[in-house]
Amino acid sequence: MNVLTNVSLGQMTTMKIGGNTHFFAEAATPNDVVTLYKNAVRLQQQVFIIGGGSNTIVHDEGFGGLTIKITIPGFEVISEDVASTTIKVGAGESWDEFVARSVDMNLSGVAAMSAIPGTVGASPVQNVGAYGQEVADTFVSCTAYDTQSDVITQLTWDDCQFSYRDSIFKNVAKGRYIILDVTFKLYKSAPTPPFYAALQSYFDRKHITEYTPRLMRDATTEIRADKLPDPSVYPNAGSFFKNAIVENWVYNNLKQTSVSVYCACA
Ligand SMILES: Cc1cc2nc3c(=O)[nH]c(=O)nc-3n(C[C@H](O)[C@H](O)[C@H](O)COP(=O)(O)OP(=O)(O)OC[C@H]3O[C@@H](n4cnc5c(N)ncnc54)[C@H](O)[C@@H]3O)c2cc1C
Repeated sequence: MNVLTNVSLGQMTTMKIGGNTHFFAEAATPNDVVTLYKNAVRLQQQVFIIGGGSNTIVHDEGFGGLTIKITIPGFEVISEDVASTTIKVGAGESWDEFVARSVDMNLSGVAAMSAIPGTVGASPVQNVGAYGQEVADTFVSCTAYDTQSDVITQLTWDDCQFSYRDSIFKNVAKGRYIILDVTFKLYKSAPTPPFYAALQSYFDRKHITEYTPRLMRDATTEIRADKLPDPSVYPNAGSFFKNAIVENWVYNNLKQTSVSVYCACA
């Protein structure tokens, strides 16, 4: 493990702006994570965890502590039955490559989240989601280093308290856990409607009536490419708007007063 000094943290993000991190190291194993974290605590350095830097904006002054980039690899089928396949994925794996591999295996559950930048380890943090799917739909558990009690532990779906673009990792347990791997349960059955409106109109336009994970991936990749520039070509932070979730009566009121209310009913 190499610890470097004065490395550009901004360049590790998709926005490509912001200052340096005082110390920087990559963690390719759980042991690296624990060792780096404990050394930082011993030296009274603050720690920042980064994955793909696609949900991070760096201050011009940079960061005065140690940034640990999680690069832990891994993709392992850990169980399978007639209906599903359960896969454990290293936190440092690219999210989109994980989705691509699941689609190659003809598995359903994450294909509508194709082309989301970032790492698998960051995906539970904000319960990543798009086009009607979210991580919480297929998440089983994750392994994490608990920096508070200094143990490697398993967190279940219930522990993570997922909600719309939210989880304990973003609020009550912010900064406490470093995610080392994530286990997903994916399905062998074909995707079934109703689909998110943009997906359905893509399928209608192309006269597609039999759905596969591959078609879902192709559709979402194409729709997204029309909406957002590729951050590796044109630095950007993606969309930072959240859908407003309101009671039916609020929706109906808004509908009467506004010309452009869009409803994505569950
Ligand atoms: C062009 C574009 C499109 C996007 N589209 C979507 C979208 O459709 N849906 C969506 O939900 N999001 C979207 N995002 C946001 C982003 O891709 C996700 O939030 C993604 O999960 C971030 O992953 P990352 O590895 O880049 O995280 P980073 O930016 O590196 O980190 C984000 C946060 O997670 C923490 N973190 C990272 N790794 C770990 C770990 N292993 N353990 C604990 N904490 C960790 C970091 O400390 C930080 O607080 C988009 C972003 C861009 C730039």
